[in-house]
Amino acid sequence: MKTLTGKDLAAAIRAQTQAEAAAGAPPRLAVVVATADEASLWYVRSIAKAAAGVGIACDVVDLGPDAAPDQIAETLARLSAAPDVHGVMLQTPLPPGASAQQLAAAIDPRKDVDGANPLSLGRLAAGLPAFPPATAAAVMALLDHYEVPLEGRRAVVVGRSTVVGKPLAHLLLDRHATVTVAHSRTRDLASVTARAEVLVAAAGRAGLIGRDHVAPGAVVIDVGTNPTDDGGLTGDVDAAAVADVAAALTPVPGGVGPVTTALLLRHTARAANLP
Ligand code: NAP
Repeated sequence: MKTLTGKDLAAAIRAQTQAEAAAGAPPRLAVVVATADEASLWYVRSIAKAAAGVGIACDVVDLGPDAAPDQIAETLARLSAAPDVHGVMLQTPLPPGASAQQLAAAIDPRKDVDGANPLSLGRLAAGLPAFPPATAAAVMALLDHYEVPLEGRRAVVVGRSTVVGKPLAHLLLDRHATVTVAHSRTRDLASVTARAEVLVAAAGRAGLIGRDHVAPGAVVIDVGTNPTDDGGLTGDVDAAAVADVAAALTPVPGGVGPVTTALLLRHTARAANLP
């Protein structure tokens, strides 16, 4: 089984983004945070560090874990209206009672570099220009980087969230794959996923995809990032179990994750250069 790492691709995207960022006005990304969740704060710090590395300014606007939904929405609207801010992102999780989807509607779609505004998903579904969520875009970038054919292929996406599964299904459809979306109510998941030539696991359930879930020769992309007891991360795919049946698998960590961050920055550089 081939391991489809994301590190080289992420480095190539960052290099290209650095060149794009240097070509115009310096791009600026604003990340709105309203959580004390350590994993989430770590991710935001990693975005800020990666941004600095490619010449993109990154403002972390930390409203604290007790922020009211109105305050978050007002902040997103203010940043969307600021001429020197080109990308606006709302980090999750959010305080109880705050809905990411409702709040993300306050992000200007032209600055919605993580595809969180429902309008962005709608535009994506309609085949109109929009920034897809960086994770969904990262899956497509990995498939393209490793030259995985999609046209006419059976693709199965496990997960139907608005940040990963649904946008990804539209992106795969645009590339003429025959797409099936599975979720927690899908009966006999293995019988559905075992038909996939391209299988994307995005359920957030460690080890959900085992040997019986994978067709011989399938390309498997593991989006899942599940915390392990020792402080590490593991994917949704049982890598050891599928090793002698899948043709290829992305590792966790080191697969989709680094490409996601690189694409978030690329989207920001592109947002800064929109006419
Ligand atoms: P989410 O909002 O919790 O959605 C999970 C989806 O998986 C839901 O559609 C759910 O079905 C489905 N699901 C859950 N258990 C299932 C099961 N046993 N069988 C089949 N489907 C099942 O999660 P998310 O935000 O989409 O994230 C998914 C995973 O990707 C998480 O591990 C997350 O940490 C990871 N992630 C990684 C990156 C990255 O950059 N690498 C970025 C974002 C997310 P229902 O709709 O029926 O509930």
